[in-house]
Amino acid sequence: MESRKIFLNESEKPTHWYNIAADMPNKPQPPLNPATRKPAGPDDLSPIFPMGLIQQEVSTEKMIEIPDEVQDIYNIWRPSPLYRARGLEKALDAPVKIYYKYEGVSPSGSHKPNTAVAQAYYNKQEGVKKVITETGAGQWGTALAFACTQLGLDCEVYMVRISYDQKPYRKIMMNTFGADVFPSPSNRTQAGRNVLAEDPGSSGSLGIAISEAIEMALKDETNKYALGSVLNHVLLHQTVIGQEAEKQLEIAGDYPDVIIAPLGGGSNFAGISFPFIGKNITEGKNTRCIAVEPASCPKLTQGEFLYDHGDSAGYTPLLPMYTLGHNFRPAAIHAGGLRYHGASVLCSQLLKDNLIEAVALQQLECFRAGITFAQSEGIIAAPEATHAVAQVIREAEQAKKEGTQKTILFNMCGHGFVDMKAYEDYFEGVLSDHTFSDNELKTGLEEIRGLQP
Ligand SMILES: *Cc1c(COP(=O)(O)O)cnc(C)c1O
Repeated sequence: MESRKIFLNESEKPTHWYNIAADMPNKPQPPLNPATRKPAGPDDLSPIFPMGLIQQEVSTEKMIEIPDEVQDIYNIWRPSPLYRARGLEKALDAPVKIYYKYEGVSPSGSHKPNTAVAQAYYNKQEGVKKVITETGAGQWGTALAFACTQLGLDCEVYMVRISYDQKPYRKIMMNTFGADVFPSPSNRTQAGRNVLAEDPGSSGSLGIAISEAIEMALKDETNKYALGSVLNHVLLHQTVIGQEAEKQLEIAGDYPDVIIAPLGGGSNFAGISFPFIGKNITEGKNTRCIAVEPASCPKLTQGEFLYDHGDSAGYTPLLPMYTLGHNFRPAAIHAGGLRYHGASVLCSQLLKDNLIEAVALQQLECFRAGITFAQSEGIIAAPEATHAVAQVIREAEQAKKEGTQKTILFNMCGHGFVDMKAYEDYFEGVLSDHTFSDNELKTGLEEIRGLQP
């Protein structure tokens, strides 16, 4: 019988995180201090992040050792399985081999604990007592709550109001891991009070919640802030995914022609693809890496490469990234993890240099793909992850049309067990595809032109 899963032992886990900055032909441009428009140094970041993470943020060292205590917690779910998608292959009947990494086996059900554990560890090393963050759909908050409880830290989460109301189970998961959860905008911060004064019924946004979490972290020296995507150190921690996949594919005797992952800020895409992009750059390999974004939040395909803030109040340094502007308000799609206005600096630079590709897909196609995946593979995917499946199906159909063989690797970055409302809405026919009116995408970009150095 042909095998469907390829496992590694705990002792075969990667010993280091891979830092793609070491291999990039054009290094990422530095973040800027918004007041001076000069490169932001460690001192600009140290009020909100511990120095261990700031050092990783600016590091150009190629391999960074994973501390033992982090490895010990990783052992709860890592190495994650690599699946050969035999069921999906059969359903598609195309000349493709399909493999996927399944990150849904983690305690919170997504890839996010890979960085949450590392971030909690470096905070603890420096005597931090409480880590504060925001969460959109709830995946990141759950991951950080889990990591903090493992390391004995307090955790406080600002959860975007609409998700707080729509996804009560995510909040209860965070509570179960010991975190305090507040809907955002809240009246606990100036940023939140400002929004509520203008719009008392505000359903919130990731940008607003980030502002609230940063403001609270700045109030007390023993508090720090944590971000679940976008920053270099977050992407770094996720590279265990791709490194494991490489070993697992070697066991299967394969190497990917195409790698596909959904992109919100860029961390799960980076996690699975960066080790392979490194091989493209340094060993002349030719794996195409495709980031899939939602058509309703198309920063990679319709945004511009500009300096922009990571949050809506403008507390964060200016980052050079593909963005739609920090005040862009994406439609309330269920793939909450993909509703972010910008893409990480590393992914943005790689796209600018044509080292990765990007596509934007509509949600109905993604849900159809998610249902095909559930029925053929038995895993109900998070709405974010269905974006990867939809692109895999497109690649398979293309290969069939061209009569070419292809090996595809994709990231099944999370399960959808806490997202069943999304599937319910799909079945009830209340979801629709998204189109922008003429100037809608221009406004957010016009607003940030004045921020350029
Ligand atoms: C957070 C999240 C995303 C989007 O974030 P990235 O940093 O782009 O990975 C995608 N999928 C899932 C399941 C998530 O939890």
